[in-house]
Amino acid sequence: MAGRKLVATTAQVGDLLRAVVGEAGADNGATVESLLGEGIDPHTYKLTRSDTVRLLAADAIFYNGLLLEGKMADALQRLAADGRPVTAVGDALPRERLLQPAGFEGSFDPHIWMDVSLWRAALAVVRDRLSQLYPQDTARFHDNAAAFDAVLDRLDGYARTVLGSVPAPQRVLVTAHDAFSYLGRAYGVEVVGIQGISTESEAGLRRIEELVALLADRKVPAVFVETSVSERNVRALVDGAAARGHTVAIGGSLYSDAMGAPGSYEGTYVGMIDHNVTTIARALGGEAPAGGFQGRLPGRA
Ligand code: ZN
Repeated sequence: MAGRKLVATTAQVGDLLRAVVGEAGADNGATVESLLGEGIDPHTYKLTRSDTVRLLAADAIFYNGLLLEGKMADALQRLAADGRPVTAVGDALPRERLLQPAGFEGSFDPHIWMDVSLWRAALAVVRDRLSQLYPQDTARFHDNAAAFDAVLDRLDGYARTVLGSVPAPQRVLVTAHDAFSYLGRAYGVEVVGIQGISTESEAGLRRIEELVALLADRKVPAVFVETSVSERNVRALVDGAAARGHTVAIGGSLYSDAMGAPGSYEGTYVGMIDHNVTTIARALGGEAPAGGFQGRLPGRA
């Protein structure tokens, strides 16, 4: 498959492709591009003309699916209907492993990368689909996927350990929108988003009041902002808690739907998850090693 061009929507899916095919320039590697950069919100992002050009030039297209890419899904489905190899990774996962958000009967929570064990299943989907498209490279895809899967297995264990070190009553993750339910299910954290499953709805005043009461009652020390979502609602929560005499810190900025800068550690899937779980554990009163999962995070500030 040398010389092939693969295009992903999210950087998370692009990271999976890179792990399975290997970098361009390496033996038989391919070019992998992600359309959604640092800080970009996939729920509301609309394809640009240059994105469309890149999609049309791709040999194969991979996207998250499960309606994450709300404004892109039609275009992606049209490309698939035209006979292009388009794969929605999340839609190929076993339904019984997916969460159905309350009030959204028949649809599934798309934030599947937040549970590392579920992302390992996504890795297998990508490996099998690439093997189907480029059968001559099947053995290499399997070797690469197995190597990455071993890293993910250790990362999953790390997340469980550091989040498990947070005292139980404070194991509450309050963030701007509902992107962390899979993390909550996998690692035993109660997860509360100020906004719903998408970033499109507005958070009402009553929602803020409810959350202020929760934070004060449970003595939750910190709430979190997200790199791809406005901080406004989180700030309102911190101010509301202060007015009730409960000091809540902003525990850090989490990578919810977008990864960090390309080329940085947080611009990889492993770095993104390491940053998130390490930041959450520390801010909520748990323990995490100074450099995180593999010594590559900046030490405690
Ligand atoms: Zn989201």
